[in-house]
Parts: sequence; C-alpha cells; structure tokens
Amino acid sequence: MTTASQSADLSLLPSVNDVIELFEGQAPFAHGLVVMKARDVLSSLRERIHCGEPLPASSKSDLVSWVADEVRLSLRPGLRRVINATGVVLHTGLGRAPLSDEAVDALKWAARYCNVQADLEEGKRSRRETHVESLLRHITGCEAALVVNNNAAATLLTLTAIAKGKEVIVSRGELVEIGGSFRIPEVMAQSGAILVEVGCTNQTHLSDYVNAIGENTGVLLKVHTSNYKIQGFTGSVSLSRLSELAKANDLILVHDMGSGSLIDLEAYGLGDEPPARRSLEDGADLVTFSGDKLVGGPQAGVIIGKQSLVDGIRTHPLARAVRVDKLVLATMEATLRSFTDPRSAVERIPGLAMITMGREKIRKRASRFVRRLRRRAPHIQIRLIDGISKVGSGAFPVQELPTVLVEVSPPQGSAGDLARRLRKGEPSVFARVAQDKVLLDLRTVFPEEEKELVASVAEVLEC
Ligand SMILES: *Cc1c(COP(=O)(O)O)cnc(C)c1O
Repeated sequence: MTTASQSADLSLLPSVNDVIELFEGQAPFAHGLVVMKARDVLSSLRERIHCGEPLPASSKSDLVSWVADEVRLSLRPGLRRVINATGVVLHTGLGRAPLSDEAVDALKWAARYCNVQADLEEGKRSRRETHVESLLRHITGCEAALVVNNNAAATLLTLTAIAKGKEVIVSRGELVEIGGSFRIPEVMAQSGAILVEVGCTNQTHLSDYVNAIGENTGVLLKVHTSNYKIQGFTGSVSLSRLSELAKANDLILVHDMGSGSLIDLEAYGLGDEPPARRSLEDGADLVTFSGDKLVGGPQAGVIIGKQSLVDGIRTHPLARAVRVDKLVLATMEATLRSFTDPRSAVERIPGLAMITMGREKIRKRASRFVRRLRRRAPHIQIRLIDGISKVGSGAFPVQELPTVLVEVSPPQGSAGDLARRLRKGEPSVFARVAQDKVLLDLRTVFPEEEKELVASVAEVLEC
C-alpha cells in the first residue's frame, strides 16, 4: 500500500533525463555511466519513500540537484589519496608502508618502458630480479634472493618447492594467523607439506623437535610470532640451536620472519625484530619476509638464503604465478638502495622515520598544527594530550610509541560522524575516535600534508 504522502513524494522524483540534462556539455561526460548511476540513485530514493523515510529535499528542482550531486560523488575514483592521521604507521587498510621519494620517482619512470627483463649489454632476455638480488646480498649477506607477490606467497612457494610430501616441524607456539586468512597450518596444507606440531603453546623444547624427526622429515620451520606475544612461563628454541639440529639431520631450516627488518632497530628501543642478516648468521637456510612492513617498500615477499635452495624455488612452476611486476621491482630496488647506508635508511624510508620519531618532535608539530587550526576555526574545542601510536601490520604488537595527539571535540553530532565526514572529504582523512573525541596523530602525517589537513579539519568542523 502506498500512502497519500508517499504518492506525493514519488511524484516529486525527477526522471533520469532531468538528471542527465545537468551533465550535458560537461567534460568528462560518459552518458551511459551517468544514466546507470542516476538510475541507481533514483531507485534508492524510491526505496526510501517506500520505507516511509523523508526525502532529502522538498522541491523538484532541489531534488534534481541532490541526485546530480550523488551521481557526481559516485563517479569519483574509488581508490583515493588518504592523509593518515591515525598514528598507525603500517596501516593495513591504508596500504601498509608509504614509499620513499626515491621509490615514488622509480614508480614514475618504470611505469613506461624499462629493462625489467633485458640486459643492456646485448639487449637480450635476462633474469628479472638481478638488480634487487645484488642489493639484498649486500644488505643481508645472503647468497641468493627472490622477490614474489607477498610474504604469504613467499611462504607458500618455499614450502611447495622444498617440502611437498615431506614433514615440516613447527612449534605449537608459532602456528600464527595473520589477518586476512593467512594461517600457517592452512598454508602448509596448500603447499602439500605435512605439518608436524611439537611442544605446547607456551613451551617448546629442543627435545620436542628431536623426538619428532623421522624418515620423512624435510624441514624445520620457525615462524616469528609477529602479531602477538606469549608472556609468563614461556620458552622456545633459538634459531641457532635449531640450525645445529637441522645440520645434524640433513634438514632445511626455514625462518618466516614476518616483518623483516633490514636494520637493527634496538638502538631505538625496538629490539623485538632482529634484522634479516642475523637470521642467516644464526643458521637459517631460507628466510622469508614482507616487503611492505619494516622494509618500508611495496607489497612483496622476499626469499633469501642458500643459492641452491633459492634456485630450486625460482624455477618452480608456481614462481611464475606469484611473480612481481616491473613497478614492484623498481620501487623495491629504490627502497633497498636506501639501506646501503643504514643511518640514511631511517631518514629516507618514511615508515622507519615515523616509527623512530620522538614524542617531542611530534609535540612541536602538533602545537603548530593547533595554532594554525585555531586561526582557521577560532571556536573549535581542541587540545593536545599525550597518547600512543602503533607500528601496525602485526609488527611490534605490544610496543607503544609515545606520541602527542590533537584531540578535537565535535561541535555537534558524534565524534564518529565527524570522523566519517573527514574520511569522505577530499583528500580523505583517517583519524582515530575514542571517548567521543576525534584524535589526530601527526606521527603518520607527512609534513607537506599538514596545511591540507588543517584545511580539511577546519572545513568539516565549520559545516
Ligand atoms: C605479515 C606476515 C605474513 C604475511 O605477509 P604478507 O606480506 O602480508 O603476505 C606471514 N608471516 C608472518 C610471520 C607475518 O608477520
């Protein structure tokens, strides 16, 4: 049944043609696309009327422009630039590590033609990853290296190539799940390797590994517990002791490092993620890690280790299915180049610069930000409070990075509404919400974005 007021509302609805007229002569005007979007908006309006909801405008002409605005919004590109004011440095939802200037430059020139698989001497076909491989050898001391789509692919490919049909021994304390359905037991099943769990959640002893080794054992796997910590009565077997055991039994020792730091972050109070070089020194035969966590590069998975093993992985048919494109190789090479001098890596890799940024530096930037914002929006309620930032992406899960937050009270509505309006702005701004306040953490905001952020926040607060 349609009530009288619903019929009246329905009669106010514009036609698709009324909306199209507003777009004609405007560039770029894709007739078919505008028609499709206009139909969608009009049908959702009809739905609203049938549910007894009020219309967003009360006259026919206002409704036409409202619909046109909605169509315009829906025609904007789906993937948009974001200012990350959450303070979560490796924010999975926002694309993990932000690239360095050098990597962004590389992205631009590599986007056209580049010698991704051709040598310059003869112009002949060459291997794709020779450039990143030599940098990884220099930085980590490995014999050989391979870069694939992500660390999940690196682990799957490694186990498929070296352990199919063989037993792989893993501690029960290391059967990790990483968000987005990466689970060690499931990756193992997919690879055709046979999982042999040993020890307990909190304690695994060397004897547990020793007792599990049998005729069909091929691999000892150590997995970094990236995104959680087991505390209290705990114990695990070190990589170097596992290495002795692997050697004595002719087994391959694989270490899934997860975050994969390339430098020692201990000097910054971040000692839980030893550098990849140390895994090899401790005797791992193969080490895998992500390219877009603590390396600070593009989404990728890195496999480093013994030449003969890496060669076997490189030539496995699955390697082709998880290979990276030229954009990843170019940005990865530019990122790795920054690590040839570890001190400059911390300055030039944005992710590392943000993680190691001290609270006082953030306080200075936050104070200046507040002064600028007050000038633009004098009536807003805003103050600085001490807080914490997070590394994100499972790296240093319990580490708290001391920071200074800009706390904004919403002038009307909820903090959630304010945060939503910021996210839907141009550029989009992601902030944190706590206790009905919006919190901005400048740790993850690039200095050159601060002016824009002031303007975005001021605009959203004033409307
Ligand atoms: C993050 C992580 C992975 C998955 O890496 P992706 O690059 O996201 O595929 C696998 N193992 C560990 C231990 C990790 O921390």
